[in-house]
Amino acid sequence: MPLHEHLSFRDGELFLDEVSAGQIAREFGTPVFAVSETQLRRDTRRWTKALEDAWPDGPAALLPAFKANTCLALRHVLNGEGVGCDTFGEHELRAALSTGVDPARVSLNGTNKSEGAIRLAIEHGVRITLDSPREVETVLALTSSGGRPALVRLRLRPGGETLAGPSDFSDRGDSIAELAAAYRPGFALADAERAARSIVDSGSARLVGTHVHLGRHTTSLSTWSGVVSDHVRQIARISAVCGGWRPAEIDLGGGYAERGSPVGQAIVGRGAAPEPPSPERYTQVVAQALRAGMRQHGFDSKGVALQLEPGRAVYGPAGVHLTRVVSVRRSPERPDRQWVELDTTEQFLADVVLEHARYPFVLANRVSAAPGVPVDLTGSSCGFDIIAAGVTVPGDIAPGDLVALLNTGAYVETQTTNFNAFPRPATVLVSGDLVEVIRRAETPAEVFARDRIPARLTGR
Ligand SMILES: *Cc1c(COP(=O)(O)O)cnc(C)c1O
Repeated sequence: MPLHEHLSFRDGELFLDEVSAGQIAREFGTPVFAVSETQLRRDTRRWTKALEDAWPDGPAALLPAFKANTCLALRHVLNGEGVGCDTFGEHELRAALSTGVDPARVSLNGTNKSEGAIRLAIEHGVRITLDSPREVETVLALTSSGGRPALVRLRLRPGGETLAGPSDFSDRGDSIAELAAAYRPGFALADAERAARSIVDSGSARLVGTHVHLGRHTTSLSTWSGVVSDHVRQIARISAVCGGWRPAEIDLGGGYAERGSPVGQAIVGRGAAPEPPSPERYTQVVAQALRAGMRQHGFDSKGVALQLEPGRAVYGPAGVHLTRVVSVRRSPERPDRQWVELDTTEQFLADVVLEHARYPFVLANRVSAAPGVPVDLTGSSCGFDIIAAGVTVPGDIAPGDLVALLNTGAYVETQTTNFNAFPRPATVLVSGDLVEVIRRAETPAEVFARDRIPARLTGR
């Protein structure tokens, strides 16, 4: 696997930017999440430029999903790059706004928005990407007595024939269509038509566009172009029932695979997934499908804004999870395969279980010439805690060795739990030769900080 640009090996040691993994581990302990600021900026710029180049038709904007990594310092980095964000619900929206992100580049998404979330979005001029008729009612009720108009878009469900292909999330061979049908967000078309009419007629909310998000089911570009074509078909239907209404902006959501994407890699028999298409290819293909679809349905794409909300692809490559080997032991029943126990746990790497993720990894502290042996990399919880089954590591791997799990910048730290009373690890930001804590480690006491013990149970 080719290393991302911020990673290099120097005298056998892994470096993040100008700092060795060993130094980070010694200074901040393990397990620890490290994020390269330079890589995050590099990937953000690459996606932004790719999108702008692919869509000269109108404004192009990147709205990286906040949920992929909620460290506020990283949001400050992205604010510096001028990009907005997708937020899910009130708490994410409030946190993102607290960092000073430009509200005009924020979308409030989510399947069940509270009135508070919608009120906050209206107050700040944040786009509200509506998900259900109930939310339409809330918006219209909140804006009917004047004040700031709400800027809303309709989230439509992904459709089209290309969803017949297999999903990378499934280990049972489910098609994308089957999984998409089981996923609740978005309006059915008939509901969207009704919602659009009531918004356009209201005068108090402005229907500025549409939204669709497929999720990271596949790297197949034809699937993506099919979803975009189907989305435009749905827009045309809405336009027809709304007196020729036209979207000023179209948001195609996220779901783009990162390089070396870990999702689905642990599915038995799937084999190594092909490298996903580059951001440049992705953006060209979706932009072309959008332009062609719009032309086919008699819309002018000129001046229409195109937005994308990649989370994994922007944050993922910049992150590394550093963990030390605690022990190497042999299964009495399976002497051909050893367990290499790490001081981390699948509880800090939830997608290992949830999305069959297998993070690429390297021995980070030394070169080993020892021949490879098959092992299961495991964590330290009481569960099976298999982080990578049947992988090859140098035969002399030993306690104290440092392992770096790569591509862990997205959806990893945000899903950590306290199972087995493990305090959650710190996140540090690496920038050149500087390393700074941006989310400190939890203390063991904090794991129980919310507990309250009724006096009658203590006998005091
Ligand atoms: C999760 C999500 C994203 C980001 O998805 P990635 O797979 O990280 O690119 C974008 N938009 C919406 C609405 C989402 O739910």
